[in-house]
Amino acid sequence: MSDNNRGPGKDPDNKPGFDLNKNNKFALFFLISLIIMFFVLFLVNDRGAGTEIPYSTFMNYLESGQITAVKIYDNKTIQGTMQGPTGQNTIFDTDIPYFDDFLMEKLRTNNVIIEGAESSAGAATIFIQIIPWVIGFAFIWFMLRQMQGGGNKAFSFGKSKAKRYNQNDKKVTFDDVAGQAEAKYELQEVVDFLQNPEKFQKLGARVPKGVLLVGMPGTGKTLLAKAAAGEAGVNFFHMSGSDFVEMFVGVGASRVRDLFDQGRKNAPCILFIDELDAVGRTRGAGYGGGHDEREQTLNQMLVEMDGFDTKEGVMILAATNRPDVLDPALLRPGRFDRQVVVDMPDLNERLAILNIHVQKVKIKKNVSLDKIARSTPGTSGADLANLVNEAALFAGRHGRNEVSSQDFEEARDKILLGVARKSRMISPEEKVATAWHEAGHALLHYHLEYADPLHKVTVIPHGQALGLALSLPEKDTYSKRRGWLLDRIKITMGGYVAENIKYGETTTGTKNDIEQATMIARRMITEWGMSEKIGFVSYGAEDEPIFIGKEIAQHKDYSEETAKMIDSEIQAVLSRCLKETERILTDNKDQLEKLAEALVTEETLDDDRIRVLLELGPAVKQYEEDN
Ligand code: ADP
Ligand code: MG
Ligand code: ZN
Repeated sequence: MSDNNRGPGKDPDNKPGFDLNKNNKFALFFLISLIIMFFVLFLVNDRGAGTEIPYSTFMNYLESGQITAVKIYDNKTIQGTMQGPTGQNTIFDTDIPYFDDFLMEKLRTNNVIIEGAESSAGAATIFIQIIPWVIGFAFIWFMLRQMQGGGNKAFSFGKSKAKRYNQNDKKVTFDDVAGQAEAKYELQEVVDFLQNPEKFQKLGARVPKGVLLVGMPGTGKTLLAKAAAGEAGVNFFHMSGSDFVEMFVGVGASRVRDLFDQGRKNAPCILFIDELDAVGRTRGAGYGGGHDEREQTLNQMLVEMDGFDTKEGVMILAATNRPDVLDPALLRPGRFDRQVVVDMPDLNERLAILNIHVQKVKIKKNVSLDKIARSTPGTSGADLANLVNEAALFAGRHGRNEVSSQDFEEARDKILLGVARKSRMISPEEKVATAWHEAGHALLHYHLEYADPLHKVTVIPHGQALGLALSLPEKDTYSKRRGWLLDRIKITMGGYVAENIKYGETTTGTKNDIEQATMIARRMITEWGMSEKIGFVSYGAEDEPIFIGKEIAQHKDYSEETAKMIDSEIQAVLSRCLKETERILTDNKDQLEKLAEALVTEETLDDDRIRVLLELGPAVKQYEEDN
């Protein structure tokens, strides 16, 4: 479900720069005049009207006195009129094959009326000579259209490709955006200003020209910008930063100019530049260095932003998920001087987003959106919109007329973990081994103090994984305690330990688990200061992707000795956790076996089922008291 489909209807007649209908009419007109010209030329030209006869036959007719008149063209062709025996006139043509000295004499002795004429082929010849040019121009014109991509934007290279949404289109409002209270609050000011500019001007307040929405993809930046326009009831121009970038130098800059012109003409309005980082990267940082096309485009944007007054009633919103790479000039006062952070949704916001999107589908009454929200930490609004849609598709595929919780489960697993691959062939032995492995992960949830409750465990393959054990955090936490992290490491080790208990050896299926456990242990020590020996210090850098143009490389900023110490600390944490895990699983081997067997037969077990199997009693649900 992309934002394009959801937005208000597009307005093709308002495409700036070029009008599709006018263009087609022009082409049609051109074609018709061409055809008419063709016919006129052939009608006016009376040559070609007669039958073509050989020169010798012509001579015979001439000598028998049947020819009454001739017209000689350029000494090359003769058009003649011949009177037949019954008195009717026939027109004929003949070519003169050689220079005939006696032709004139013969014509005169036979009393033929002689006329000379310029070759009237002239017009036709010119016409024929024009044709390649016409075709050539038509071809170039066609190529230009193709290069424009849209097919209807010939001669509009320098025009902005902004999509325009009108005041009277179906509106998106802040009610369509769940959560994002701070962002809405900031944007409300933009809305107030667009509706009531005098109020602010009277106060002498300087209203921000541009607001930059900063947030991860899918968090609703585009949606918020549209909603702001909808709330203010003004026109909305939407353009992506990458639309400015074209292969010809100067095109981007002229598109920027055009976009701002459009904005001024249609004030009050909101200009929205999505993915600003596509044009707004720090200057002089690219490969080519110097003044490239992108830099010129950015300069033009800075000039335009400086050059107009908020009094004109034009507000510029932009969105990016890489504010750190933006050119600092863009963020100076008078340009994008206000930044609004659009966060990933937390638990309550996820619930609210789900609530908005399930309005569009029919769901069963017993579906717990709360449970879905809790089981989707780290997902964006776009993911959740997609999840609801996928669930509806699953319901359709299963022939249900209401979306059930099973459909939501399936959709969630598909989005978070890849599609369940029920059809993949797994040998019975492999299935048993997977069951033991997953049972090892799952059982630890019931024996560790700080672990999140288990959501479900399955031996149905998902994506690359043979099986899964999913936990269900009770709420989103942004900081984790040491105890939770250690328990997380132990849970990760559960598969490995269980395989060892059952078979006395392990499989390659433990690779990811080992990586994950090691990663947590390393970060505990090098980033979070959770080791007593090493203490309060940060080693190594963030895992942020490196972008060419800013940092070029990262340095290892510690000595060999420290490296050794870090390694031995990681070792110590991991081996302590492994011992503890081994102790728990061997002490409860009967439970482990029960779980593994149940997994082989039932394939998927949820928390409730496991509690019944292991006779544990119902779970204490904290989160219901919390909310
Ligand atoms: P971004 O521009 O930040 O990448 P979008 O605005 O394009 O994200 O969001 C994509 C879709 O995700 C929206 O059209 C909407 O359906 C959904 N969505 C994202 N955030 C929210 C939200 N807070 N409330 C409701 N729907 C949301
Ligand atoms: Mg977007
Ligand atoms: Zn595992």
